[in-house]
Amino acid sequence: MFNSARLKLTAWYLLIIMVISCSFSVVIYRSLVSEIDRIAAMQRSRVERRFDFGLFPQQIIDPEIFEETKRRILLTLGFINGAIFVISGGTGFLLAGRTLSPIAAMMDEQNRFVSDASHEFRTPLTSLKIAMEVYLREKKHTLQETKSLITESIVEVNKLQSLSDSLLQLTSHRQNGKTEFRKQSLKKIIDTSLHKVSSIASQKEIKITTNINDYKISCDQESLVQLLVVVLDNAIKYSTEKSKVIVSSKKIDGSVLIQITDFGIGIKKSDIAHIFDRFYRADSARSKVGSGGYGLGLSIAKKIVEDHKGSINVKSEPNKGSTFSILLPI
Ligand code: ADP
Repeated sequence: MFNSARLKLTAWYLLIIMVISCSFSVVIYRSLVSEIDRIAAMQRSRVERRFDFGLFPQQIIDPEIFEETKRRILLTLGFINGAIFVISGGTGFLLAGRTLSPIAAMMDEQNRFVSDASHEFRTPLTSLKIAMEVYLREKKHTLQETKSLITESIVEVNKLQSLSDSLLQLTSHRQNGKTEFRKQSLKKIIDTSLHKVSSIASQKEIKITTNINDYKISCDQESLVQLLVVVLDNAIKYSTEKSKVIVSSKKIDGSVLIQITDFGIGIKKSDIAHIFDRFYRADSARSKVGSGGYGLGLSIAKKIVEDHKGSINVKSEPNKGSTFSILLPI
């Protein structure tokens, strides 16, 4: 598909260039021919005057010379147009490749995204289908069995809902220019985020301590809360019970640095490079903790940080913990 689009675009480039080039060639040919005819007419009248009608001017000025000149002009213009055709065909093909390659990359990414997403949807959908098929196969059911099927189904439906919510968040942050930036209090944003994760923290009896310096930063408040909730939620999710999470903020040059530190399972060096990729989950996250995440949180977080012209990175050591650092311009 890429190649046929590339050929089509090259053909359009060529068509435009050749129409322009041929039109100019016609104009050039016509003006040169009329100039030659004018010179021939001038010569004829001069000769007529000088030879006092003794000789026929045609005998002195050979009209063949003029015809030959016209033929040569035509040939040269034809040659130039041929060269333009070949050169612009080659260059057009290269340029078409360059023009289309970001679009092709975008389409590849889109296709990967769709196939990753459908892959993630398949697991809960399959469990739901199997549970219902098994239920239908048996003729009689106790109330208890029916209740347990519905409970299992709700768990799967919740998973599907959280996946579709994450996908929606990710795609809405992919459309640039949507976020509205206003001066907001950083402390207020952090407090709102902490409030949102407080119940899951208390479920695991995790204590969150803060060392926050307040600054006014230009941002989209809702997105920043979402970003901090993702990182805080991970810090809690990947920590053992009764451990600690520290949240701090300070000013560095023209930016504010927000750090979230946990003392949980940590991240292997080989995983660190990928955790911001969509649908990436480290093995430890899948097996040890059973987080139930889809590997979308940090890619949403990264997108939000990029929308704010900031950066996010992580330092981590397995079994010791992780520190996520978010740098945002004030
Ligand atoms: P998930 O929904 O799986 O948590 P994320 O995109 O938020 O997806 O995180 C991607 C992966 O990064 C996780 O699966 C986990 O392996 C790792 N990770 C993120 N935060 C932490 C953390 N604080 N401690 C340990 N591992 C983490």
